[in-house]
Amino acid sequence: MASPWSLSSALKGMFARPTIDDTTWDDLEDALISADFGPDITESVIDELRASVVKYRTTDPVDLKRMLRETLEERLAKLDPTLHLSNRPAVVLVVGVNGVGKTTTIGKFAKFLTNYGRTVVVGAADTFRAAAVEQLATWAERGGAEIVRPQQPGQDPASVAFQTVERAQREGIEIVLIDTAGRLQTKSGLMDELGKIRRVVEKQTEIAEVLLVLDATTGQNGLSQAEAFIQHAGVTGLVLTKLDGSAKGGFVLAVQEKTGIPIKLVGQGEGIGDLTGFTPHVFVQGLVG
Ligand code: GDP
Repeated sequence: MASPWSLSSALKGMFARPTIDDTTWDDLEDALISADFGPDITESVIDELRASVVKYRTTDPVDLKRMLRETLEERLAKLDPTLHLSNRPAVVLVVGVNGVGKTTTIGKFAKFLTNYGRTVVVGAADTFRAAAVEQLATWAERGGAEIVRPQQPGQDPASVAFQTVERAQREGIEIVLIDTAGRLQTKSGLMDELGKIRRVVEKQTEIAEVLLVLDATTGQNGLSQAEAFIQHAGVTGLVLTKLDGSAKGGFVLAVQEKTGIPIKLVGQGEGIGDLTGFTPHVFVQGLVG
């Protein structure tokens, strides 16, 4: 089955014609825009392809398809998607606004890690809503992870983060995933809270990764959300969720090029196993066909 974000049906007519002509370029532009590459990236991809077509003196749409694949893959591969989790414990802060799939991602990520034999503890540092803590506990359990909860509702999030890292150090747990609040109504309060968590944890150990979770279905809106976190939270990697429900495959390139931060994980479903590392080659195969 084709991925929902696949361009292949939009590109079908174009590659069925015998030669590359003006209509080919118009169709390609429409396909890239509707897949949410955004106008600048669409233009630069098309410019690059026009130059390649001239350079290799081809008029064959099959060559153009191959060049499109190569261009997208090369651009996506410019940033390194490796997760740096070799510290012991490796502390990962997970940030992002409510509703993007943060809780689910933490459960899936825990599972991803425990499948590789790693031990994991999750810190419920979004202490504001008791229901959120319970939901996180359910996902942590599914992921085979321990959890550190606030001792009372509204406990200082930084102290929960501290206790989680302390438990990992005491019990030799390898990976710490810290859930954080995502109420964007209080943007400066939220950024201060994240700043405090970082400062407290950094006194205990180095922070291995700060992962920003973004919902791929929000497209260009997700980009503006990302900015505040990138400016204030020291983001080291992106997690794109809900790619299974998105026709906006181009967002993947847009978000990476506009933020300059690598996509490290991709969520493609609501199940515990639906999180994978990001592999440009596999992604582009799904996108272009
Ligand atoms: P949070 O508020 O950021 O913690 O978001 P949740 O983890 O509670 O997720 C919000 C909704 O998005 C839930 O209904 C999840 O099942 C759903 N969700 C999360 N990740 C994915 C994904 O990769 N694909 C799909 N289709 N749904 C997802």
